[in-house]
Amino acid sequence: MSSFLSDNIDEALGCWKAGGLVAIPTETVYGLGAPVDREDLILKIFSYKERPFYDPLIVHISDKLMAKNYVETWDPLTELLTEKFWPGPLTIVLKKTNLVSDMITSGLPTVGIRCPKNKQTLDLINALGVGVAAPSANKFTKTSPTNKDHVLHSFKDDHLCILTSDEKTEVGIESTIISIENELITLLRPGIITQIDIEEALKGEKFQFSLGKTAFEEKAPTAPGQDPIHYRPTYKLELMEGKGQIIEKEGAEYVLLDKDPYITARELYLLMRDPLKKSFNRRVFVLPESRHQLNEKEKQVWQSILNRLVKAGKWV
Ligand code: AMP
Ligand code: MG
Repeated sequence: MSSFLSDNIDEALGCWKAGGLVAIPTETVYGLGAPVDREDLILKIFSYKERPFYDPLIVHISDKLMAKNYVETWDPLTELLTEKFWPGPLTIVLKKTNLVSDMITSGLPTVGIRCPKNKQTLDLINALGVGVAAPSANKFTKTSPTNKDHVLHSFKDDHLCILTSDEKTEVGIESTIISIENELITLLRPGIITQIDIEEALKGEKFQFSLGKTAFEEKAPTAPGQDPIHYRPTYKLELMEGKGQIIEKEGAEYVLLDKDPYITARELYLLMRDPLKKSFNRRVFVLPESRHQLNEKEKQVWQSILNRLVKAGKWV
């Protein structure tokens, strides 16, 4: 078997029918998808990715109506947040219905659900008529894919249709994940939609916002899918504060990250990828000192970028 590219929705649907997977473009990163009701294909996601079963998948839907099939609760906070941020990079963890299997949620009673922003993918989910479970389309612990070639490179010998799109992965890092339980919102994974964005969207509402244990702490994981080794390139990646004059060491390639966190997030995984021909033995990402002068929301986006970087590399 080998994977193939297609911009045709029917071809993608046909690939699922024939027992393959479909890689879906989104505004964050590419996903490796299977219909929620195809247990055989959900299993294939884990095997293609070499992903452990304790790491749950996010269910992608095309609208709120479809989302409601998969979750037991839909309170006013969920309504306001989905109205404001969907389609977009916000995943909400809610109590699941029995249309979502334990394999998707790793046995948890909750499911992470999101409406991605990409016309091709939304058309595909619409045509399918059920949700698509999908983690990022990379091997477990490796760098997430932000274009079709990244996906092709990781899964070239698998039975996979890679759906192509004219739209770019403009966000560049994975979705923000929150859980909502009564009036408590917990941040499980930071992303481009920040605490400040969420609080603004819910102005006047009664709720509490809390940082989940794993949102920013870089200790041993206590929640599924938060392994400290993640997003890893194959070379050694180092992180450095861009203070004063940088004395470049031999054999290393230095990359100064853009101070604008939205640009850095968008470019991050492309910058992290292995070049085809390596002329260095390690790469050093230099973090611009001027990021400390940004506004609070931009600083929160930087925190989300660092959440990925400290798992992919080491401070020097
Ligand atoms: P990925 O799509 O590869 O970025 O991985 C999805 C991530 O979503 C997982 O690794 C978990 O961290 C998170 N996630 C998905 N479902 C749940 C859930 N029910 N509860 C908590 N976290 C979840
Ligand atoms: Mg991933």
